[in-house]
Amino acid sequence: MRRPILAANWKMHKTVAESVAFAKDFAPRVAGARDVDVVIAPPFTALAALGGALAGSAVALAAQNVYFEEQGAFTGEIAPGMLRELGCGYAIIGHSERRTVFGESSELVARKAEALLGHGIRPIVCVGESLAEREAGRTLDVIRRQLAESLARIPAGRAAEVVVAYEPIWAIGTGRTATPAMAQEVHAQVRAELRARFAEAGDAIRIQYGGSVKPDNVRELMAQPDIDGALVGGASLDPDGFARIVRFDAR
Ligand code: PEP
Repeated sequence: MRRPILAANWKMHKTVAESVAFAKDFAPRVAGARDVDVVIAPPFTALAALGGALAGSAVALAAQNVYFEEQGAFTGEIAPGMLRELGCGYAIIGHSERRTVFGESSELVARKAEALLGHGIRPIVCVGESLAEREAGRTLDVIRRQLAESLARIPAGRAAEVVVAYEPIWAIGTGRTATPAMAQEVHAQVRAELRARFAEAGDAIRIQYGGSVKPDNVRELMAQPDIDGALVGGASLDPDGFARIVRFDAR
């Protein structure tokens, strides 16, 4: 049984003060949500303060990116050890905005995943096709290649620590969500790839769906057999909205 994981990706939103205010509002709303992992990825600048504000809650801290080197002359980059020091349990890597706006390759994502595991930080590895790729019938080929290249440095013994996020690019921030059936079709394929690569450890890997997840569509998405969680952008910026997503199965 895979434990659901609901993660907030705040992207370049929220100051330190806004992040702390969010935590004070949000943490009590999800205090009773026991059987899920809840993760928030604020901007780097808010990690320390948000970590402090969430202390004592079960909400985990994540970074939105990382560099794979331990230290050195890499202006503007952040090392895995620096994230660990701030209490990060997770880091998002290979988000489509990193791939398309900043030109990150799957080979780079693979190095980041390896470096994170070396510091006990769970990588949330994002994959997803563009609208042109979907319309050309290339979705599964694209996903297969991104997975193979991005997970190339993960040994089977550590695979269960990885989270994969399937995020169709055309659904991110657009209000267009893949239907639960469309998402499940790709998730089933991701699951098959993970099993082929990692054998039974592939069954333990959690696969999140991302792309305009909202309080009113999360439940149906989470009901799909291979959807184990959600990576949420816009709707995670509001404490009430993200709390309703976390409590997707509340009656
Ligand atoms: C994301 O950026 O990972 C994302 C899924 O964004 P949104 O929920 O806004 O589509």
